[in-house]
Amino acid sequence: MAMSRFKLEDYTSLTTFLGDDYLDLKAGKKQRDLYKICEELNIALFSVRFKDDSLSGVLHKDDDKWSILINETDSPRRKMFTIAHELGHYFSLKDGKLSKDLFDESGFHEDRAIFTRPTDTESLSASAEKAEAEANFIAANLLMPEKLVKASFEGKKNIEEMAEEFGVSESAMGFRLLNLGLTPIESIGVADGGN
Ligand SMILES: [Zn+2]
Repeated sequence: MAMSRFKLEDYTSLTTFLGDDYLDLKAGKKQRDLYKICEELNIALFSVRFKDDSLSGVLHKDDDKWSILINETDSPRRKMFTIAHELGHYFSLKDGKLSKDLFDESGFHEDRAIFTRPTDTESLSASAEKAEAEANFIAANLLMPEKLVKASFEGKKNIEEMAEEFGVSESAMGFRLLNLGLTPIESIGVADGGN
C-alpha cells in the first residue's frame, strides 16, 4: 500500500544529493550527511534555543540567502529530521512545487512537531498541509532511501535497529516502512512525537 502523493523524479535539484557521495556508510551506518549538503547549497545552519520551545525548526529566506535554525534541545535524531524537512521545503521551492506560499512577510517558515501530525495540522490550510507532507516526503527520501531501507528490512532488521542504522527516530522509520508498503516486524509507535 504505497501511498505517496509525490514522485521523486519530479525533484531534479535533489537528485545529486541522493547519491552515495552524501552517505556515511561507516560502521554499518547508512546516514545521509546533511551538514555536507547544507554546506554545498550555502545554507547556513544554526542550533539555537528558541523562545518558543514548541518550535522544532525554522527555514529563513532572505533574497538568495538561506538559513535553517534547529531547536538545540531536541534529540540528535530529531534534529536530523528537522534539517531534512527544511531541506525538503528548499528543494520543493527549487523545483517550483508546493512550498511557494510557505514564508511569512519576513521570509520565515516555522515548523512545530513535524511528527505529531496529522492532529497538529488541523489548523493548517489544505495547501499548507500538502507543503508539509511534501517536505516530509523529501526528508524521508534523503534520510531513508527506498533501496537501502528495503535491504535492511529484508535483512530482518527490526525498527529499532533500522532507526539506529539510518540515524532517525523509530517513529520516522515506522512511517517510512508504512509508506513503502513494508509490513513492520513489530508494532509501530507513531504517536510518540518522534523522540
Ligand atoms: Zn515545514
